[in-house]
Formats: sequence, structure tokens, C-alpha cells
Amino acid sequence: MCGTEKARVVKSSSSSAGLDHSETRENGTTLSSHSVINLDHGDPTMFEAYWQRMGDKCTVVIPGSQSLSYFSNMKNLCWFLEPELEESIKRVHHVVGNAVTKDHHVVVGTGSTQLFQAALYALSPSDALEPISVVCAIPYYSSYAAVTDFLRSGLYKWGGDAHAFDKDGAYIELITSPNNPDGNTRDAIVKRGGGKLVHDLAYYWPQFTPITKPADHDIMLFTVSKSTGHAGSRIGWALVKDKDVAKKMTKFIELNTIGVSKESQLRAAKVLGVIADSCQSCDTPDSDNVFEYGKLIMSERWNKLRDVVGQSDMFSLPEYAKEYCNFMGKFTESYPAFAWMKCNRNIEDCAELLRGQKIITRSGERFGADSKHVRVSMVSKDEEFNLFIERLLAIQETSNEYHI
Ligand code: PMP
Repeated sequence: MCGTEKARVVKSSSSSAGLDHSETRENGTTLSSHSVINLDHGDPTMFEAYWQRMGDKCTVVIPGSQSLSYFSNMKNLCWFLEPELEESIKRVHHVVGNAVTKDHHVVVGTGSTQLFQAALYALSPSDALEPISVVCAIPYYSSYAAVTDFLRSGLYKWGGDAHAFDKDGAYIELITSPNNPDGNTRDAIVKRGGGKLVHDLAYYWPQFTPITKPADHDIMLFTVSKSTGHAGSRIGWALVKDKDVAKKMTKFIELNTIGVSKESQLRAAKVLGVIADSCQSCDTPDSDNVFEYGKLIMSERWNKLRDVVGQSDMFSLPEYAKEYCNFMGKFTESYPAFAWMKCNRNIEDCAELLRGQKIITRSGERFGADSKHVRVSMVSKDEEFNLFIERLLAIQETSNEYHI
């Protein structure tokens, strides 16, 4: 594969990377110094510029007569999975080298959010007297707790921090790697008999982290939301080793939404197929590869953020070790989709401090951590990110002046 053979250098694309805020404003943005910038959600609008550049490469035309049936392939365990999507998923994992698909069943879901719930249903014992505990090490992705307890299921319930879990018997542990919110690579924590593991690998893609080996776990969750930026298509997939677990997950989706939108599946199949082609073709310029492009933008943003944060001791950021990325063919750093930022000195509520400067972030408390931390989306549009950097700089300059 070309990607692993040559060290690829991508030039800054003028459409996105490296623009400063005044340039974007001249180009007719809607943001001003009064605008509130919302970096609470990990909405991947950063990728829009890339897909605009790709023009019609991923355009999908669906005639009115196509995809009327509920069914996609009755011979497949996941009967509503479009064969083109299954093929693209397998191909993209093969070329990126981030997951083993052999001996795994593919289950498609309406985002990996639906698959997460399908996995909880499939892994919960149906005859237990008490709901099974669902745990994850702090800081954990804030939706896990909310989604787990939303319907007050009798099958499962949120059990909180995996480090503090001390019950005997069965449990479900969620392992998010790289982790949302802090970007760290993770392994299971509890490691006891009766444990059932769900690996959420939404961010295990080369733009965010070095791909060190193909992941090979019992249940692995992926999504186009973070891999290609197509969050609006609501397509996720699970790679599931055990046939009965895959069947139960499929049953959950059958009862929940009777399958998954075929229009979305066909679009995702096209996008993932184009990406797999671009990784395999030696003729593809590096800037046309979504992972190279994504990594370039992410590295520029992280460098800017680290520069600004480094100007005082007011904020701090996690450090990540360089590792060999098999996809890039060289040692690379992690550039997570979120910055897990800590307020130092005597600032107790970091989200509040930033809100005062019209920057909306998500408080560390939502992730089971403390209010000195915030999670900041790094995958917004350029103009939002650049305004965030400007404001962060201003906060630091003011605080230095007044010795806050
Ligand atoms: N898992 C993690 C760790 C996430 O961060 C997200 C999105 N923020 C999801 C799952 C949900 O992905 P989807 O859009 O596919 O439902």
C-alpha cells in the first residue's frame, strides 16, 4: 500500500488549514467578536472543506424506484445491511489496518449510538434478578451514562467509573480508544471473570491517532461521524465476533427501527469506497486522502492550541507519546478530536470561565471528572476554531496583566 511505503508530506490547503481569522472574515463569514462559539459538541464540520474539494466524487443518485424494500440481503445475519456498505467497510479497514474484519459479523446501525444500545441489550443476561452494571473508566464519554439509564431498563444500569467498580459477577465495560474526552489509548480496567467488553473505536483513525495494530476485539464500534465527518448520515457499524451476540444486536435494531436507512447506507458505502480507493491508489495526491488531510488540519490546530496554552500556566493540556503509525509509515503524534483542557491556578469552573468569553465547552463533570476540566471540540469549522484561539489568547493576556 502506498500509504505505508512512503512518508507523505502534505502541503497546507489554502481552503482550510492555516487561514487566520481576519482572512476568513473577509471571505464573508457570519462570525463576529460578539458571536458565541459552540465547541460543546464534536460536530465534525471541519471535514466540509475537504468534501467540497472532492466535488462530485461521492455524489450518489438514487432513483425513485430503488431501495423500496425493508430488506437488503436475507442471507445475511444482518438482513438490512446493504452489501455495498459491508464491502466498503471491510475494504477500508483492510487498507487502513485499524481493525480485523475476518471472523467478525458486520452489523449496521443508525450511528454507533444505536449500536451501543444494541450491544447493551445483546450482552445483558435475560434471566438476571438485577440489571447488569455498565462501567467505563473516568473520564468517560458523557453520552454513555445518559443513554444507559435513559429508559430505566431492567436489563442494565449505569455503574459509573470502572476503577471504582467492586461488585462480583457479570458486568459490561466500555473501552473507548482513543478516549473521548481525553484522547488517551485505553485497555480494559476491571479485568474480572464475567466481564463483557465493548470497544468503542470511533476515533481509531489515522487523522487522530497512530494506527499501531489492527484491533481485534469481540465487539468493536465504528462510525462515519468521526472517520469521514458524515455525522448527518447517522451510519455506524459494529464488528462482532460471536454469532449469537450479532444476531441479538440485529434483533434490537429490528425492533427499534426495523433496519437502517438504505439511502444513508448507500451514501456511506460510496464515501468509504472512495476513501479506500484513494488509500490504495499511488496516483492520489496526499492532500486528496481524507486521513492525510484530516491529520494535517488536526496537527495545525493542535500546534496553534499548544502555542497559545504554552504562553502562561493558566491552562494545561495532556501530552501524547509518539508512536509508529502503520498507515502513515512513520512515527506520528496523536491529535485528538477533543482537547481535554485543565484550568490551573485557583479557577474552579473552567467551563464558566470560557462561557464568560462566549466559548461554550463541556464541563469535565459531565465526563465523571471535575469542573477544572473542559472538553473542547477540535473538529469545528476553521473560523470557529480560529476565533476560539483568539479568545483564549485574550483571556491569557488579560489574566497575566492582572495576575489572576
Ligand atoms: N462513541 C464516541 C466515543 C463518540 O464520541 C461518539 C460521538 N460523539 C459516538 C460514539 C456516537 O457516534 P454516532 O454519531 O455514530 O452515533
